[in-house]
Amino acid sequence: MASTASGVDYVSRFLEAAAANPRETAVKAGREEFSYADFELLVRRYASAFDQAGAKRVLIALAPGVDVYAAILGSGLAGCTHTPLNLASPPEKAARIADLLKPEVVVGGDRARELAESCAARHLDPQQLPPEPFEGSGRTTDLAYILFTSGTTGLPKGVMIPRAALNHYVDWLGRDLACRPGDRVAQHPSIAFDISMTDIFGALCYGATLVPLMSEGDRFLPARFIAREKITVWNSTPSVVSLIMQAGEAEERFLKSVRLFNFCGEPLLKDHLDAIFAAVPETLVHNTYGPTEATISVTNMKLRAGSYDDKVRGSVTIGPPIDGMELHLVGGSNPDEGEIVITGPQLAEGYLGDPAKTAERFRPVEVGGKELRGYFTGDWAERHDRLIYFRERLDFQVKIRGHRIETDEIAAAIRGCGWPMVVVFPDRGNEALAAVVEQADGKAFDDSELRRSLQSKLESYAVPQRIRLIDRLPRNENDKVDRRATIDWFNSQ
Ligand code: AMP
Repeated sequence: MASTASGVDYVSRFLEAAAANPRETAVKAGREEFSYADFELLVRRYASAFDQAGAKRVLIALAPGVDVYAAILGSGLAGCTHTPLNLASPPEKAARIADLLKPEVVVGGDRARELAESCAARHLDPQQLPPEPFEGSGRTTDLAYILFTSGTTGLPKGVMIPRAALNHYVDWLGRDLACRPGDRVAQHPSIAFDISMTDIFGALCYGATLVPLMSEGDRFLPARFIAREKITVWNSTPSVVSLIMQAGEAEERFLKSVRLFNFCGEPLLKDHLDAIFAAVPETLVHNTYGPTEATISVTNMKLRAGSYDDKVRGSVTIGPPIDGMELHLVGGSNPDEGEIVITGPQLAEGYLGDPAKTAERFRPVEVGGKELRGYFTGDWAERHDRLIYFRERLDFQVKIRGHRIETDEIAAAIRGCGWPMVVVFPDRGNEALAAVVEQADGKAFDDSELRRSLQSKLESYAVPQRIRLIDRLPRNENDKVDRRATIDWFNSQ
């Protein structure tokens, strides 16, 4: 199974890395360290368990640690499709996912046992793996994983990612994350958020050490974790930088080991870059962009200290597409604005059991006289000097008294007044706008003064009538700012 038309298989990459670096540490979880040789054995025992159970789909309900990574790679080795579950997700959501997925095996502790019972699957207890390893280079399968994202209707949508799409992405990881033995890659995002795969495969397919954050304390003070574990590659949403800044820990003594910060999932702001480069001027920052439906990320803007001022328009440019992928701007009033439509080998097969939703978002797009299969992202963007800038989700465009307003434009103006983290939304039944700003570095907040400053930057109808201060904006399971929870908080005040 060494290679396919779409590139080298990710499991083959892992097996090669393990064979080349048997004594290097594959996973350091808390105080425990697992060499590549030991870790490969665990992967093979998981594969053996899945094989013996005749599994095609495996639901993985494990906390961060060596078992979860071994189960993910073991399912790939045995030719299964895996689905990672966030253990923090509410029981009804987890049950709904199990019901939609219909896995043959659910791996994990008590929670997994209950889920297995609810969907008539077999429960696999990590303490009871078969001793004999799965032999050989493994089997392949059409789908690498099915990842559930929250749908707008509140029902989780299962995004089906082909193995060839994941292989394409893991190939890119080899080129741009370029981890090698000696690299220490933090594992911060929940495994049910696809950007966790950047850490997992970026490290384990290339001989580096994966270092999960094991405690709430580390998650709350990530800069201390980075310093203690001498992390060389950090990957997360930019929200984590805001957290580090709030803790007053964006400092060289905490961050000096990091050679690369890879961001994805949310707009990266100039304030984030200023804070990182002030602390560690030699480091490299990636701003990557992508939806789950296009396998994690499909663009990359590489940023260095002193060379980014012209790459910020509200937020930092998302940069050019990675090799093999293309971004098209569709439906704008000129060719340099529109909805981002993605084409290329990383597109998902669609949504599990939902052909109508699949047909709505995955549609043909005309490119240079040819029709290609596109994924319509719902993200509005602009192109300036050949660089693409994410503006806003299309569903955030609002009309206030007849004026079309992109709330991001107002957010950018508020950021310009020294409040980097802000959510803007319609208020009073679309009669006006409101905003919530996050406390910034102990700064005094005066809403009428802020509104006065905005008068000079925005049309009067675009100045939020009500602005409130919050200590910390609500974040969702994936550490992204949670817009809906912010609005609920505002309305409850
Ligand atoms: P998810 O499927 O949860 O990864 O969310 C994908 C969405 O996150 C995209 O459609 C964008 O709206 C947003 N997103 C991802 N990366 C970026 C980025 N670098 N800048 C701005 N927004 C982003």
